[in-house]
Amino acid sequence: MNLETPIENLRYVGKIYQPRLKKLGIKTIRDLLWHFPMRYDDWTERGKVEDIKPNQKISLIGKVASIENKRIFPRRMILTTASIEDETGKVKAVWYNQPFLVNTIKPEKFISLSGKVKLDKYGVYLQNPAYEVLKNDQFSIFNFQSNSKSQIPNLKHTAGLIPVYPETEGLTSRYLRFLIKPLLKFSSKVQDFLPKEILERQRLDDVRTGLNEIHFPSSLEKADQARKRFAFDELFLLQLKALSERRKIQQQKAVSIKFNQEIIKNFVSSLAFELTGAQKIALWEILKDLEKPYPMNRLLNGDVGSGKTIVAAAAALETALAGYQAAIMAPTEVLANQHFQTFSKVLKNFDVKLGLITSSGIKGHGLSSDIVIGTHSLISAKGGPASGGQKNVSFKNLALAVIDEQHRFGVDQRAALLRSESGNNSKFIIPHLLSMTATPIPRTLALTVYGDLDISILDEMPKGRTLIETKLIPPEKRDEAYNFIRAEVKEGRQVFVICPRIEDPNGKIQNSNVKKKERQLSFKDYLNYEVKAVKVEYEKLSKEIFKDLRVAMLHGKMKSKEKENIMAKFSAKGGSASGGKNNIDILVSTSVIEVGVDVPNATIMMIEGAEKFGLAQLHQFRGRVGRGKHKSYCLLFTESPLVGTTRRLEALLKTNNGFKLAEMDLKIRGPGEFTGTKQSGIPDLAMAFLADMNLIKQARAEAKLILKNLNRYPLVSKKLSEFNKNVHLE
Ligand code: ADP
Ligand code: MG
Repeated sequence: MNLETPIENLRYVGKIYQPRLKKLGIKTIRDLLWHFPMRYDDWTERGKVEDIKPNQKISLIGKVASIENKRIFPRRMILTTASIEDETGKVKAVWYNQPFLVNTIKPEKFISLSGKVKLDKYGVYLQNPAYEVLKNDQFSIFNFQSNSKSQIPNLKHTAGLIPVYPETEGLTSRYLRFLIKPLLKFSSKVQDFLPKEILERQRLDDVRTGLNEIHFPSSLEKADQARKRFAFDELFLLQLKALSERRKIQQQKAVSIKFNQEIIKNFVSSLAFELTGAQKIALWEILKDLEKPYPMNRLLNGDVGSGKTIVAAAAALETALAGYQAAIMAPTEVLANQHFQTFSKVLKNFDVKLGLITSSGIKGHGLSSDIVIGTHSLISAKGGPASGGQKNVSFKNLALAVIDEQHRFGVDQRAALLRSESGNNSKFIIPHLLSMTATPIPRTLALTVYGDLDISILDEMPKGRTLIETKLIPPEKRDEAYNFIRAEVKEGRQVFVICPRIEDPNGKIQNSNVKKKERQLSFKDYLNYEVKAVKVEYEKLSKEIFKDLRVAMLHGKMKSKEKENIMAKFSAKGGSASGGKNNIDILVSTSVIEVGVDVPNATIMMIEGAEKFGLAQLHQFRGRVGRGKHKSYCLLFTESPLVGTTRRLEALLKTNNGFKLAEMDLKIRGPGEFTGTKQSGIPDLAMAFLADMNLIKQARAEAKLILKNLNRYPLVSKKLSEFNKNVHLE
């Protein structure tokens, strides 16, 4: 046997356990060694029967005086009761529904027990304690030095710090301890991929020590030290990956677009507002990148409403006036339309041709425009008339690709835009890429995933924004909230209503165990559930609650023209067409459709079933209001004011700042939901150490050093390519 031996060759992994282990990705002995505990039960102190006190945790060794099963009829339960004695007294141990214990725990045997002491009317007892029947050699040691400090070798479950593993159905920690402990001897066979110099500089455990201490630590400090070692591995590899990818990009070619101060000055001074400091810095960083002879790969990360569009417009303008094309890809038609209008407005004094390409057709100059705005129709053959049956839309000379709400596109779609044919001899020229996202990425995370390279952050809101007031609406306050909404509408304001999807019956979307492919297949179902939810809510609001108001709905199954009409009507109110007959007061929409829309007269964001959405999404919805001069509100309707959910929602009441929320979420619940990093592919331990800025910085510094002479470190190279194969960051 060796590290690569498949688990099915192990004695206690049969047909039953093998698939359960495989579900966790465990195929070999090595994988088992790398299946780390999530915490430890502390049984370091062993006591005597006379020391026992109620509600304590205790570990003790004694002789089994008796053991029997009893059936408890009213509760249909089997109770196994044992009496255990040592030289100081007797105590009862009780297990529920494990009648088979009488076959292992036999009278006269010595047994080690660890568990919680409970008190009932008959006295104290150990409830469901972990147990180990001592073997002869263990027993003789115990007998020989019978004091509570003596170490008994090979206790897996009841002495010292006992690992508790993340359990899935049918795989208990007890089983995993049993399986892993004897395999730890293989840890001496593991070649440490981390060079000695790094181990020394960073004072990290070598891999063998690390493996032993992370599974069966000699102290909690040692366990922490071991966890840090393996977290470092992951962070170091993430840094190597980020740095080497950056290097690859720098070896590619792009057109260098010289910074043109006059154009930018003209553009900035033509705006109706002054750019925020953050916008100025971000724009500067982008324009600097465009000058480079290799492709930019920059993420513009700014909270909803922080003004990303205008930054993109300036970069596109400079590109266009330098004689190249820029493309802007948005996730929805509504949004592409809105960008087209924004660009038309802010660029009207400049000599650039604009085009819009969506599945509904072409506006403006289409593909021969200097700046082409569109949906995925820009890249897909099926998408629209523009593609003319070709695989990719052909641009004349695309030099800048902007992807708005980049998380809404897949990796392939992003790559497709960059691959778009751009003219004749430019095959090897790659467009500069600017991705934009409103999902706030905390600094530590940015540093981990992107190596902190090429991210511009808009963490400052444009002046004059009114703070959005966020309120939690429990069932008993519903009527009051409806009245408030009506009053706002009477004042001329408008309302968004978002309703949660009706849960998908198969749980395919929610269940992260379902493969990504299958989840995508169910997107159609998903759409159906959302549409259904919108229709139900629309009926309720338009026919009952707000009969007197103009209610409309918007969902993903409507025709593009219909959607556009509705959005146009909704945007028109409060504008020049204010008071017109066809305007819309309340727009009921799905969670998918509304991303990015800008309607300054809308002041209320009402969210039904708020507890069903993630914090990130809720924050995005909230950002749809508070864009005009009127005070705005975000009303979180919740049917189940459970303590856990409300605590989560309360974070939203505390701050309007997305970056702060992200940090808060990172602290409260660990990374995951807010930033969508659960699916991000970041390995677990790295995740757990995301709050440790220092460790991340160290990992980055070491990665930089190693990368200079990677060929001198074959083990690191090998590990990196395995890592690249297995870890896909979104
Ligand atoms: P997001 O970052 O969410 O995409 P947008 O680009 O849609 O935000 O901008 C939101 C609104 O803020 C738009 O109406 C835009 O015109 C306006 N805006 C952008 N920058 C500024 C600024 N510096 N001062 C005032 N308003 C701004
Ligand atoms: Mg936007």
